[in-house]
Amino acid sequence: MERTRKAPATATDSPVPTALPGAPAKPAAGEPTTRGPRPKRGVPEGLWLKCDGCGATIYRKEAEDLLNVCPQCGFHWYVSAAKRIEQLLDAGTFEEWDADLKPADPLGFRDKKPYAERIVAEQKRTGLKDAALTGTGMIRARRVACGVTDSSFIMGSMGSVVGERLTRLVERATAGKLPLIIISASGGGARMHEGILSLMQMAKVSAALARYSQAGGLFISVLTNPTMGGVAASFASLGDLCFAEPRALIGFAGPRTIKATIRVELPKGFQTSEFLLEHGFIDRIVPRKDLKSEIARAIDYCGG
Ligand SMILES: [Zn+2]
Repeated sequence: MERTRKAPATATDSPVPTALPGAPAKPAAGEPTTRGPRPKRGVPEGLWLKCDGCGATIYRKEAEDLLNVCPQCGFHWYVSAAKRIEQLLDAGTFEEWDADLKPADPLGFRDKKPYAERIVAEQKRTGLKDAALTGTGMIRARRVACGVTDSSFIMGSMGSVVGERLTRLVERATAGKLPLIIISASGGGARMHEGILSLMQMAKVSAALARYSQAGGLFISVLTNPTMGGVAASFASLGDLCFAEPRALIGFAGPRTIKATIRVELPKGFQTSEFLLEHGFIDRIVPRKDLKSEIARAIDYCGG
């Protein structure tokens, strides 16, 4: 493959307002999928929508009032990082950190289109700078450090910006003795477009978490649909407490890849929250409506 080498753009740019990014330019549609050129996400537009979980026709407003959850079967639709923050933190308390970090293109990478172009297109579409949003805010009047990844930005994959934002989040939580909450929605794992610079983020965030742990911090990792690859294999799995939303896809390699590699029929429900709870990989399945209360309760219980 022919590559044109570019001087790496600087990762830090002029500061931008701390207003919540992440709100899509127009309402997103469809449930999260980890494949396809331009996955459509969230609750589809229109008055009525078809649930991807049970097939029922649902009044859109009713699903939205339930935080994008199906009233019939409890199917959890995608929500954007900005919406997550809104759902989780006390209104008006979020203060974004490191909003000035922007992705670079150190390899001059190109797949179907140049990575630099892809970044610009994703930023425009999602309103995010990259796939993570980090900062501080209150959860029922308890101050926390909070990070969210968004599967709509290059599948929520972890490149150097996601890794750096999360690392700084953890370091600030350590310095400020704050409980740490990271909500993962990353179907892409490490971002191949940045090569080794993406891969090293796994170790970097994990090392910061180890120091946070040694300092006595409480890290609650919330796994949502999907949490896969290098994200699942690093920070997302390192919570002192690991919560998961119901029926989320959580794993390393996808079930099809594993099946094709080991040629063995996979167990029923493999890589779902329920399966992982049964096998001790996660601590609790928490429906979206209970997430805020459960996190507040866990912080109090752990003396945070
Ligand atoms: Zn349903």
